[in-house]
Amino acid sequence: MNLELTPEQTAVRRLAADFTDREIAPHATAWDRAEQVDPGIVRKLGDLGFLGLTVPEEYGGSGGDHLSYALVTEELGRGDSAVRGIVSVSLGLVAKTLAAWGDEEQKRTWLPRLTSGTALGCFGLTEPGTGSDAASLTTRAVRDGTDWVLDGSKMFITNGTWADLVLLFARTGGAPGHKGISAFLVPADTPGLTRRAIHGKLGLRGQATAELVLQGVRVPAGALLGPEGKGFSVAMSALAKGRMSVAAGCVGIAQAALDAALGYAGQREQFGAPIAGRQLVQELISDIAVDVDAARLLTWRVADLIDRGEPFTTEASQAKLFASEAAVRAASNALQVFGGYGYIDEYPVGKLLRDARVMTLYEGTSQIQKLLIGRALTGVSAF
Ligand code: FAD
Repeated sequence: MNLELTPEQTAVRRLAADFTDREIAPHATAWDRAEQVDPGIVRKLGDLGFLGLTVPEEYGGSGGDHLSYALVTEELGRGDSAVRGIVSVSLGLVAKTLAAWGDEEQKRTWLPRLTSGTALGCFGLTEPGTGSDAASLTTRAVRDGTDWVLDGSKMFITNGTWADLVLLFARTGGAPGHKGISAFLVPADTPGLTRRAIHGKLGLRGQATAELVLQGVRVPAGALLGPEGKGFSVAMSALAKGRMSVAAGCVGIAQAALDAALGYAGQREQFGAPIAGRQLVQELISDIAVDVDAARLLTWRVADLIDRGEPFTTEASQAKLFASEAAVRAASNALQVFGGYGYIDEYPVGKLLRDARVMTLYEGTSQIQKLLIGRALTGVSAF
């Protein structure tokens, strides 16, 4: 691939970097302590077009390619992963999936609202009893006339308490496994849908994570997204592209760790000189720098494959696996550079480590990514 960015990609990256430095990074610690980012950030993201990247302009999107999306995601992740996650879910998992699978009416109803930030989307796949083995989900949708009636519960749903729209996966057929699953567009204010905020998270504290409970939630036939029984394909197509976005967010965390470690090592003096001049501190910093570049290149490769219409799912698993583990390593190395000051939240690196940790868990744990990559290479499923 050509590693030189186009003028358009350079411009959108600069726009995102300026926005992050001005509107996100200065507030990240306060939002983390308050366990809530400023809700006004959603409209600002929409106004800049960051919630509509890659979505066609005729549906209110801002167009652009996946490399631009990765660049913006990295910059937001450099400032605050809680904000980055809002975009990765509402745009990456919901709006982009709706653009790919929705009919004309569904797209006209929801996409202009999602891309402008006047509505927020969430992605309801995980359940209390089914995480990695998502094909075993038990939330049910039963036909009643032309309507569907949904019952069940969803766990760990990002944007859950704030969302206006739930892209929800439920079992419509009796068949076990992925064959009987369908996708639904459920307005969050539908009677019978209740949400409970999940507090006490290790990281991503500013993000609105929720448990959703569905009791007799009635939606019309037009709420079905994609063909009946194809919901698992809808979910997996969303997650495959979503992994590029998580990887890009991890590059942002690792870059923030590098910036922080460099800044601190240059001004902190011990034994009569800046610690930046110590070989073992340089080892920590150079390890972070290599992780940043390797994770970024793997992420850009996925974006390039998607933009060229080539197969990309295994490469997306590789990028997500490496970048998430790299972000944890980078943040931990940066904390080491800060010494005891890294352990208190007046300094940014502890939050980077807490925020990075979940990246190895969601949208497929590191173990699940290895099983996906292993299956693609050997042709044998080891799940
Ligand atoms: P489990 O699946 O129970 O896994 C437990 C452990 O077993 C892990 O180490 C796993 O790797 C391992 N394991 C499982 N199966 C195998 C196997 N076959 N071989 C080897 N090891 C295995 N979900 C959504 O649907 N929407 C969201 O917006 C969303 N946001 C989230 C936000 C946060 C902050 C968190 C923490 C989670 C979120 N999730 C969301 C859920 C997330 O995707 C799941 O937590 C994840 O898929 C893992 O599922 P689990 O937690 O049930 O772990």
